[in-house]
Amino acid sequence: MIPYGQQDINQADLDAVMAVLTSSHLTQGPQVPQFEAAICALTGANFAVAVNSATSALHIACIALGVTAGDWVWTSPITFVASANCALYCGANIDFVDVDRHTGNMCPDALAQKLAWAASHGTLPKVIIPVHLAGHSCDMQAIGQLAKRYGVKVIEDASHAIGGRYHSRMIGACQYSDICLFSFHPVKIITSAEGGMATTMDAGLAQAMMMARSHGITKDAELMQRPDEGDWYYEQHGLGFNYRMTDMQAALGRSQLSRLQEFVSQRNQLAQQYHSLLSGLPLQTVRPLLGSVSSYHLQIVRLDNAERRRQVFDDMRALGIQVHVHYFPVYLQPYYQKLGFKAGLCPQAEQFYQQILTLPLFPQLSAEQQNTVVNSLKQVLQ
Ligand SMILES: *Cc1c(COP(=O)(O)O)cnc(C)c1O
Repeated sequence: MIPYGQQDINQADLDAVMAVLTSSHLTQGPQVPQFEAAICALTGANFAVAVNSATSALHIACIALGVTAGDWVWTSPITFVASANCALYCGANIDFVDVDRHTGNMCPDALAQKLAWAASHGTLPKVIIPVHLAGHSCDMQAIGQLAKRYGVKVIEDASHAIGGRYHSRMIGACQYSDICLFSFHPVKIITSAEGGMATTMDAGLAQAMMMARSHGITKDAELMQRPDEGDWYYEQHGLGFNYRMTDMQAALGRSQLSRLQEFVSQRNQLAQQYHSLLSGLPLQTVRPLLGSVSSYHLQIVRLDNAERRRQVFDDMRALGIQVHVHYFPVYLQPYYQKLGFKAGLCPQAEQFYQQILTLPLFPQLSAEQQNTVVNSLKQVLQ
């Protein structure tokens, strides 16, 4: 079976983790702040907050932006469920903005229309969460301008997109957002086994996220509300969680980060190769916006004939190729249907879902394997 994604762990990664295991700190040691500093250096963000998953990063980002019961949060339906669940963790209401039919990313025109309607009905969202599907940046300038005009905060779910660029800045720079976050799950661009990171330019948001990841507790002398009781003393100011990243995870993440450029360029080369090998077939390759560089987490293709997708998927799997589908629209999930969402809410997203197939793409995919994927697809489509 050729998998659709696979981590790339080398000896340096193993050594980095072993060094932590034999040191005095397994969690909350020096590795976590060093990983955070490395992410700041990469992205140009002022602050980075490491957590145990991107799901946790989504949750503490919502908390830091004050999302609470009665608020609205909007995201894309073409995403992993975590991008929407975070709003529900906070007791807020979730809604979905339709996508661009070529990229599957949040559509600025659909967002503009929905914001205008919400403004006249008093239901503007507090936060919108655009998702950089496949590592391809959303049109953040357009989304950021709309958010400013309506006083809405922006969290970029860049779980797929570390190492990518939008215009002249790295994704994570928060040029058009309040918070950006990455996932280090093994199928993503770099891994810390499980892990996530939120970046921001805002000191207050960084502080709120740091407290939320660790029980709402602080040891910062400048923040104390009561007189200092001694060196042991800490204060709880809010209700937080244990979302901390371990030093083993941070060491693995830092070691992987040193190969980020290599991973991204290998992924881009493989994607370019797909584009030329697949040309002429009855499908469109999903590609990044002009003026952006994708980390190419996924190579998604849209079949011209959506009715054949199920058969093409099954045939490819039968040929030993682990194609996938990213994603089933979140609001069609049974849990979301029970909340009252109806099919037809986002027609472009539903159409996109019907057409898509994710092809294997990971740095170690060999030319021979890639040819097998392409030849199998040609055979199946015939
Ligand atoms: C993987 C993923 C997440 C969740 O990441 P975890 O680190 O597994 O919690 C969230 N959003 C998107 C778009 C993802 O692909």
